[in-house]
Amino acid sequence: MSIAQNLNEVRALIEGACARAGRSVEDVTLIAVSKTKPVSAVEEALKAGQQVFGENRVQELREKYVALEGAPVSWHLIGTLQSNKVKYLNEMERLALIHSVDNEKLAMEIERQGEKCGRIFDVLLEVNMAHEDTKAGLSPEEAVDFLKRIAPLLHLNVKGLMTIAPFTEDAESNRRYFAGLHELMETMNAKKILPQEMHILSMGMSGDYTVAIEEGATHVRVGTAIFGERQ
Ligand SMILES: *Cc1c(COP(=O)(O)O)cnc(C)c1O
Repeated sequence: MSIAQNLNEVRALIEGACARAGRSVEDVTLIAVSKTKPVSAVEEALKAGQQVFGENRVQELREKYVALEGAPVSWHLIGTLQSNKVKYLNEMERLALIHSVDNEKLAMEIERQGEKCGRIFDVLLEVNMAHEDTKAGLSPEEAVDFLKRIAPLLHLNVKGLMTIAPFTEDAESNRRYFAGLHELMETMNAKKILPQEMHILSMGMSGDYTVAIEEGATHVRVGTAIFGERQ
């Protein structure tokens, strides 16, 4: 199947999940995760009307960003971000969102770079809902305190939460983690830690994005189902 056909299929499944959940399709953003795939794959998706893409490494994001400088692409950084790499993001106007803030050192560096270049970065806090040792992210228990600590920072705007659910063949088994992330965001909003409410829930990947949408995902990060298996 071509990338265009895959995209159509994913969009149809997103529509179905939205219908089941009584949600509007406009409220769900599909992020096409192009990591490890060539620029030509991104171009193929662009031709099929996809304009939002996700990369998990700064170096690869930079390469594709430059190669597609003139194209109407919105980029999302979804992978672990090392603080010494934040400076490379300063000039990227088309970087829409950093999904993976999970430690104070990183938050402070985003603040520092934002101040330096006069930019406010939109970010999400990454939460490790299943407490997996192998995964990055704040534990759900420490997330509220973490938000309180970084709330005073002026150059980073926390728009919501992100999670990477466990890899499984059974998407249903991840439903509780998606529901849990949704609940955590509502708890945080109720505590009024930030002056504005958070609205973004980045959750769901190729294996489980329809379940994530049923549980309130506003952004799904889909790679394999669009671009095929990675090496
Ligand atoms: C690779 C990646 C995805 C996409 O995974 P697929 O299973 O290929 O859809 C989503 N989120 C993050 C953070 C990733 O690194």
